[in-house]
Amino acid sequence: MPETLEIVPSLPIPAHLVGEVQSKLAYVDEIIARGEVASSGDRITLYLHSPLGVKQGELEEKVQRVVLSMVKGAIRPKVQVLEDHLDRPAGGYHADPHEELLRRGELSQETRGVFALGPLLARLITWFEVRFVELADSFGASPYRFPTLIPASYLERVDYFSAFPHSLTFATHLHTDLDVIDGFARGTACNEHGELNAPPDSFAPIRALLSPAVCYHLYFALADRPLPGGQVVATAVGNCFRHEAINLTSLERLWNFTMREVIFVGPKDFVLDHRETARQRMANLFGQIGLAYRVESANDPFFIGEFRKQVAFQSAFQLKYEIRARLPFKDSTLAVGSYNYHQDFFGRRLNISLPDGAPAHTGCVAFGLERMAYAFLAQFGLDPANWPELVRNGY
Ligand code: ATP
Ligand code: ZN
Repeated sequence: MPETLEIVPSLPIPAHLVGEVQSKLAYVDEIIARGEVASSGDRITLYLHSPLGVKQGELEEKVQRVVLSMVKGAIRPKVQVLEDHLDRPAGGYHADPHEELLRRGELSQETRGVFALGPLLARLITWFEVRFVELADSFGASPYRFPTLIPASYLERVDYFSAFPHSLTFATHLHTDLDVIDGFARGTACNEHGELNAPPDSFAPIRALLSPAVCYHLYFALADRPLPGGQVVATAVGNCFRHEAINLTSLERLWNFTMREVIFVGPKDFVLDHRETARQRMANLFGQIGLAYRVESANDPFFIGEFRKQVAFQSAFQLKYEIRARLPFKDSTLAVGSYNYHQDFFGRRLNISLPDGAPAHTGCVAFGLERMAYAFLAQFGLDPANWPELVRNGY
């Protein structure tokens, strides 16, 4: 039996924050293997890797800090539903495709949150990718290729460190020093947890991180000058990294995933109109394949301290909508993509100017490729014979 700890939150957790608080428990302490917030919001259960001993008070204090900063004074954002097709019959499949994909060797776990995908998933992702590129082409989007690394100074300039410190992934390399390199070559091994035993001072200071999103690269490519032609539509696909700690349980939530984005930069109405047109075009495609989903207002997974303020801001200005596909096997939904509007945040921060001198507005349509394929398989199963004709024929 794993050790458990029950905590009564100092403020009851309202229903709309139960999931958000639960996801943040992953970042409280490494001793936590799993955290659960009761749906009534009046009990938190922590499952621990090892007995607590003297740490109990400290752990309770950290959990209460999370509860207080996320719940105290929080307003309930009004969820705005733009489309609701959750009751579509889809393929009638009801199992978790993750298990079956592992069994068939279509999925192999390299480490937590990192998977190699076999031909079934790879082909299905290519099918969706072609559709997303068609969406980009319908706007005449220019193709870009961005690096997987992103400079620390870039993320600092757009306040990423205060908003999402918990999911950052850092890149480093050995000090350029013969003794360090020699020592590493001779003495390095992984322990039983797959962790390198090299001394931390072998590594150079961090100048770059693994990129958490695609569109930031475009905004930096356009920074500190007038926006060419006064408006830009671009598209790119890239590896993205978000270390979501113990929440990294299956193909649903990955450390390393791929995102295809269509990005709009220009005047406010240009960005908002294009975001809306993109939604309508995608609704058409999803309708053709019979996907069960809905599009509703949402917020980014801000860190604890920033959470209340940023969520209130995002919902007040309707900055983010998520495409939430149904996962029949667990009677819930999963965000497979998002329609985002950042107002003139990047335009101001990065000094991207419109012809009249005002800062540019930006928005992006972002699809998580692995999640798109996973949700599709959760609804239609692994046998292409049961798939919608459009997918089966193009697959
Ligand atoms: P913004 O530019 O406003 O920060 P974004 O471009 O970063 O937004 P998100 O909405 O954060 O976009 O993510 C887009 C999609 O990427 C999600 O809808 C989801 O499908 C996928 N995604 C995000 N995090 C993960 C993850 N940990 N594992 C797998 N897929 C993910
Ligand atoms: Zn984006």
